[in-house]
Amino acid sequence: MSDGLTLDELLLGHAAGTLPEALDLVVRTHLALSPEGRRRYAIYRALGGALLETIEPVPLRADAWERLERALDRADDRRVEAPRATAAERRDIRVPEPLRPYAPEGFERLPWRNLGPAMEFELPIATPGYRARLIRLKGGKGIPRHTHRGHEITVVIEGSFRDVQGVHRRGDLVIADATVDHSPVADEDCLCLAVTDAPLKLTGPFGRLLNPILRI
Ligand code: ZN
Repeated sequence: MSDGLTLDELLLGHAAGTLPEALDLVVRTHLALSPEGRRRYAIYRALGGALLETIEPVPLRADAWERLERALDRADDRRVEAPRATAAERRDIRVPEPLRPYAPEGFERLPWRNLGPAMEFELPIATPGYRARLIRLKGGKGIPRHTHRGHEITVVIEGSFRDVQGVHRRGDLVIADATVDHSPVADEDCLCLAVTDAPLKLTGPFGRLLNPILRI
């Protein structure tokens, strides 16, 4: 990552309540869909709680390091229960809870915009400088090759896609930035939430031609 935005930073920001709305939405959607994400987040919270409970404020006692290590051991041992899916989520697996305000009648009823290889719906997010979009790709279809002027944070809601970073499945959170040049392709029909903080830059042979049309 060129300037250090990582999943850990996003989870910490979410725990601290400091993320802009668009980034918080993408993290909440990841947590709603990913048991692994919930486990990781729960460990963060348990660790933070253990440290607060056991570490003295300055000046540090002579045994502070041992106490910290013991606290970390206890946090590792602690059985952290990940939040379970709510009854509503089990009834409607298609719209994760964080996205319900934007798709109250389901994804199918949204006014999708046809972009050729993809369909998109832009969420009305009030975070200056950010765009949050739902993107649908049919299996085998792809987004033209591009890189990023800022960050692109994607959560897979359904299906899967692949790019230079691997195969991404339901619940996965994928961060791409200026160091990533990719052409994501859906393995199967795929629906994603993608948040960007700067326009993408198409890098394929038709990039300049497509750029004004396909502003993904
Ligand atoms: Zn990208």
